[in-house]
Amino acid sequence: MNGEKAPGRRRSGLFIGRWFGIAFYLDASWFLIAGIVTYSFSAEYFPERLHRVPDGFTFLLGGLTALLFFLSILLHELGHSLVSQRCGIAVPRITLLFIGGLAEISREPDDAKTELKIALGGPVVSVVLSVLFYLLSRVGDALGWSAAAVVCQLLAVTNFSLVVFNMIPGYPLDGGRVLRALLWARSGRLRWATYVSSRIGIGFSWLLIFAGTAFLVIPPHAWIGFIYVLMGFFLKSAAESGYMNAVQREVLAGVRVRDLMTANPAVIPDTLPLNLAVEDFFLTGHYTVYPVCAADGDFRGLLRLDFLKEVPREKWPYVSAGDVVAEKSSDALRIGVNESAARAMRLLLAPELSRLAVIEAGKLVGIVTRHDILHFIEIHTELED
Ligand SMILES: [Zn+2]
Repeated sequence: MNGEKAPGRRRSGLFIGRWFGIAFYLDASWFLIAGIVTYSFSAEYFPERLHRVPDGFTFLLGGLTALLFFLSILLHELGHSLVSQRCGIAVPRITLLFIGGLAEISREPDDAKTELKIALGGPVVSVVLSVLFYLLSRVGDALGWSAAAVVCQLLAVTNFSLVVFNMIPGYPLDGGRVLRALLWARSGRLRWATYVSSRIGIGFSWLLIFAGTAFLVIPPHAWIGFIYVLMGFFLKSAAESGYMNAVQREVLAGVRVRDLMTANPAVIPDTLPLNLAVEDFFLTGHYTVYPVCAADGDFRGLLRLDFLKEVPREKWPYVSAGDVVAEKSSDALRIGVNESAARAMRLLLAPELSRLAVIEAGKLVGIVTRHDILHFIEIHTELED
């Protein structure tokens, strides 16, 4: 898979290294699946196909196969990433998840052709790996190395399954991105293309959830059911947020901060003591953040309610609003009046930030909030439908 980083979500994971300028991470869920895969290969797959071998040996083979399988997934993600980088879209990180991998591209492609190339980059690698492992298994057979042949055969099958699964035409799977690119290219309507492919993605997620629930009640395959259900919910939420991203992008295209900001907001003078700022603004108004400005209108910073808690109450009459915000960096809190609304939205996705100061030539001219932008999107989508 490949996808834009889910907005506002910070994914953690175990850092494993940096290659091609991309940071590689292992998600915690990966360990669970690595364990299940190693076990099912070692205890079920190999003993059925290799006779007269000791248990320890099948576990060694199982571990080796699981390792090569995850390496294959990594190469699949690298396939997406290298194509993406060639198209000028940076890839800051690749995360190995329970479901496979996720190459996080820094932004959505600008055109259908780029989208198509990036979407196919991964599956092409997996097809090549599948053929390669198949040929190696034939070589192993010919040489009479049955263990090596069975390992390569299994890897050929798993890599091929990876291609089949990923080419299901539901967004955000690779096949869904291919479908979206084709629909986008034909119609020129990204939002409609995303709508169709993400609907198929959501339908497929429900299928996985139902199939998984059925498997859960069949004892020997309960763990398969568990993985299906997890995968189903993961894909469903990714399909839904993918569509929301496309809607936002389309509605906000060409919109400036000026078009949706609230002009002339309530401003706290920078010389006002904190006790008066609390009385006149925080207690009477209904915001938890106010801009602080000098007498000439120069923006000083945003005063947040939680900043006040850092100053002892008895000192409030002697500390001015300007003093408090001077200690905080205000770069992340401001946006130019002519900057894009999409950039404001990205900044406002940070959980601790609910309002941005809108600046023109150093002076505060307005405030833009997450609510302003969501309201704008809602009104415009309602009017179109
Ligand atoms: Zn992929």
